[in-house]
Amino acid sequence: MNNSNNKISKNVLIVSAPSGGGKSTIVGHLLKSFNIFDFSVSATSRAPRGSEVNGKEYFFLTQDEFKRRALNGDFVEYEEVYPGLFYGTLKSEVERIWGNNKVILFDIDVMGGMNLKKLYGEKSLSLFIAPPSLETLRERLIKRGTDTPEAIEKRVAKAEKEMQYSGNFDKILVNDDLQTALEEVEKIIKENF
Ligand code: 5GP
Repeated sequence: MNNSNNKISKNVLIVSAPSGGGKSTIVGHLLKSFNIFDFSVSATSRAPRGSEVNGKEYFFLTQDEFKRRALNGDFVEYEEVYPGLFYGTLKSEVERIWGNNKVILFDIDVMGGMNLKKLYGEKSLSLFIAPPSLETLRERLIKRGTDTPEAIEKRVAKAEKEMQYSGNFDKILVNDDLQTALEEVEKIIKENF
């Protein structure tokens, strides 16, 4: 969109946030609003939630299959995001999306986001979506209703640690009012792609 100057054109957008930061709403909005993007479908060893479909939100693999594919070198990166639950970016997804001349949109945890930024450097823009506060994050997770109180406390504790890495990202977006956050993110995309 904005390639008229001498800047290196970017073909990767990395979106990371502590869980409950409102990341999936923002990612969904970007996919609807900008046809330059295609979503990188990750592989995971967690079970499908609700209406999730294999191949759409994730490729759902058994832990054995995940490990086999990791040993086989099928991933660009992978992480044990929660104890015993693996998530990873498949090389085949990266090839598919670039093969279609699209910009890859990664929805990925904070560690994974930093690893991808190291890998793709100036060809990528990394965006950290921060909740306004840990208390707001806790309230959002309670409202979402997909986690037990114990799991929520674990996620909040993890988020507190992850917030410390926000400075390693190219842009930080505080998701307080959703409408404002969506407007801000659109502006960032228009300026950088
Ligand atoms: P959920 O289980 O809520 O869908 O995702 C949990 C976390 O895993 C989210 O922060 C999500 O962004 C992250 N995640 C999804 N795919 C990948 C991936 O391919 N690699 C890594 N490192 N994290 C991922």
